[in-house]
Amino acid sequence: MDKIRLGKTGMTVSKLGFGGIPIQRVSEDEAVAVVQRCLELGITFLDTANAYTTSEARIGKAIKGRRREVVIATKSTSRSREGVERHLNMSLERLELDYIDLYQFHQVGDFKSLEIVLDPKGPMAVLEEAKKAGVIKHIGVTSHQIDVAKEAVKSDRFETLMFPFNFITCEAADELLPLCRKHDAGFIAMKPLAGGTLDNVTIAFKYLFQFPDVLPIPGIEKPHEIGEIVQVLQESWDMSDAERGEMQRLRDELGNKFCRRCDYCQPCTQEIPISTVMVISSAIRRLPPERLFTGMFADAMEKAANCTECGDCEERCPYQLPIREMLPEMVQCFQAAKQKYDKSVLN
Ligand code: SF4
Ligand code: SF4
Repeated sequence: MDKIRLGKTGMTVSKLGFGGIPIQRVSEDEAVAVVQRCLELGITFLDTANAYTTSEARIGKAIKGRRREVVIATKSTSRSREGVERHLNMSLERLELDYIDLYQFHQVGDFKSLEIVLDPKGPMAVLEEAKKAGVIKHIGVTSHQIDVAKEAVKSDRFETLMFPFNFITCEAADELLPLCRKHDAGFIAMKPLAGGTLDNVTIAFKYLFQFPDVLPIPGIEKPHEIGEIVQVLQESWDMSDAERGEMQRLRDELGNKFCRRCDYCQPCTQEIPISTVMVISSAIRRLPPERLFTGMFADAMEKAANCTECGDCEERCPYQLPIREMLPEMVQCFQAAKQKYDKSVLN
C-alpha cells in the first residue's frame, strides 16, 4: 500500500488509516477480525479513543505480536491534568501497550478549550512529560471547528490535526490544509464518508486520494468495507466525467442538509445540543444501542423536543441549514430506531 509522511511526526504511515468507532457495535471476535483484515491489506495507522468504549481493548487484542508494524493513535476529551493522566493510563492498559504513537486532545471545539489545552501548566504538561518519558511519541489535536483548528495549527504545539474532510465537508481544502502544510502538521481526515452519509465509496475516496498528504481514516465495521476502499486506492484515482457529475449532484443534494458539527449555531436558548441532534442518523448506523439510547444522544433528543423555533441558530449557521425543519426529522428518526430496538429486545 502507498505510504505518506504524517507531517512533523516524521512517521510514515499507510495512505489509508482505520477509524475505530464502529468496532464497538460488533462482537469482540468480529472486531478483532476486521482490524486484522486491515493489517493484512497493509493499513498501518489505527485510530481510536478513550471515549469509544471497547474499541481500544479490541484493537489491543488485534495487534498482539504486531506492535512494530502499526502506528496507534488514541485521544482524550479531558481538559484537566488529572483527567488526561487518567485517560492516558487507561488507554495504555486497554491497548496493552507500553507506549502510544500519537496521543490527541479530542474534540477541541472552542477557543476556551484550546486555551486550556495550550496552557503550559495544564493538561499539555502531562503529555509533554509522557513524551519525554517515551510513553507517547507525538501529540495531536482533533476538532470540528475550522477557526479553532487553524489557531491550533498556528500554535505549532500539535504535530497532527484531525478534522472532518470529504467532498461535501470540503472547507478544509481552501485554507486549513495549506496551513497544515506550512506548519508541517500531519492532516488526518475524519469522516471521509461523512459519517456514513456517502455510500459512493469510489467517488468519496477518489476525491480524498487526490490530496497527497491527507490520511483518511474511515470507520470500519466489516471486512468487505475496507476491501472496497483499498480497491479504489489500488486503481486510478482519476475521476471520470460521469463521476465528477455524480459528485456535484450529491453536493447539491446533501450540501444544504449536512451538519459540519462546527457549533457556530450555538448558543441555543433551550440549550439544545444542535450538532449532536443533527448527527443522529449517522450515530444510529455506527453506535451500539447501549450508547445510543442512553447518555448524550438520548439527552440531546429529549432536549430537541423543546425547540421554540426562534430561528436564532439558523441566522448563525454558515451553511444555511434549515435547523428548525431538520430537528423534528431527526427526533422522528431516533424514535423509529428506538422502537425497532425495543421490539427486538422483547422478541
Ligand atoms: S430554533 Fe430551536 S434549536 Fe434553534 S436556537 Fe431556537 S430553540 Fe434552539
Ligand atoms: S447546524 Fe450549522 S452551525 Fe450548527 S453545527 Fe451544524 S453546520 Fe454548524
